[in-house]
Amino acid sequence: MKKAMKAEMVVLDRGHLDPVSVRRAGKILLAGGLVAFPTETVYGLGGNALDPDASRRIYAAKGRPSDNPLIVHIADLEALPLLTREIPDAARKAAESFWPGPLTMILPKSDKVPYETTGGLDTVAVRMPSDPLALALIRAGGGYVAAPSANTSGRPSPTTASHVAEDLGDSIDMILDGGQVEIGLESTIVDFTVPVPTILRPGYYHPDRLAKVLGDVRIDPGLLSQDSGIRPKAPGMRYRHYAPKAELTIVEGRPENVTEAIRRLCEKAEKEGKKAGILASQENAGSYDRGVLKVVGSLAREETIARKLYEVLREFDETGVDVIYSEAFHTPQIGQAVMNRLLKAAGHRVMRV
Ligand code: AMP
Ligand code: MG
Repeated sequence: MKKAMKAEMVVLDRGHLDPVSVRRAGKILLAGGLVAFPTETVYGLGGNALDPDASRRIYAAKGRPSDNPLIVHIADLEALPLLTREIPDAARKAAESFWPGPLTMILPKSDKVPYETTGGLDTVAVRMPSDPLALALIRAGGGYVAAPSANTSGRPSPTTASHVAEDLGDSIDMILDGGQVEIGLESTIVDFTVPVPTILRPGYYHPDRLAKVLGDVRIDPGLLSQDSGIRPKAPGMRYRHYAPKAELTIVEGRPENVTEAIRRLCEKAEKEGKKAGILASQENAGSYDRGVLKVVGSLAREETIARKLYEVLREFDETGVDVIYSEAFHTPQIGQAVMNRLLKAAGHRVMRV
């Protein structure tokens, strides 16, 4: 039997990348090994995207269903044609405006991309991240790095290297530690294989911002309604995801009603002998006097909420709470993406007050 190994942790400074460490990490990728690395969205678990065995290893390490395809990361636009049979004009425009950055494009795949990487699909997901450490690693590793989020399947995505170590420390070769990520939520996924570009997963880029460049943009009907019976097109959006161990409920309504309802729910839970947690904005944090309170960020600075959401969900697992009550965070730019993740974490349990 293969001996469990411990991933080597290498701390890197984004401003002054140590070329020796980057080269070493690149060699691991070229040899078929797995290296976790930070991107501006979340930490990714990287393997050579053109090597079917490396992709199989990624699925095994994460415990990810093998029909849930991986995103191929590139560092230069010149790398794109090898992956795809065709680059539609809209995709070209999107690349010019949003790359490098948190946009993933679905394109028709070429024969060079193994089905192991695309989960058996004839399309491929491609992204060019902006994080300098990610770009350096991709170039050192041959230019094509398949990288899903570097968490155990079903857990919140990792936003620090220690989250990666918690989940995958025993099953991968190396973890590049570049500190906390910038955005904290996964990329916006847009399907360019259909006549009108269609958002398959909400992310940092708001639909309006995409529409300014692309004209018409649609949203996958499978995302909009839980009960419509229409399945989301992105296989990953069909799985339960980001779930904390405790039962999470989102409480929605006017702020006064929400804080009052959460206080009562906590009191009731405690009477039943349960330990309750509260996920709150900085603005409302002062209204709670019981329960395990975690402040995710400020509604006035929505990027702070995105950056901390997964970390806070992980922290709740350590506190042993049985139930968690969360405020809703409908902020203007990233609110859609934040609420998409939070609703999944809550198994769509929402209480309106
Ligand atoms: P992750 O890398 O963990 O953020 O997950 C990647 C997401 O991209 C999952 O939701 C996948 O289902 C989705 N995805 C990857 N490739 C494709 C594709 N070819 N078509 C549709 N969705 C895809
Ligand atoms: Mg993921």
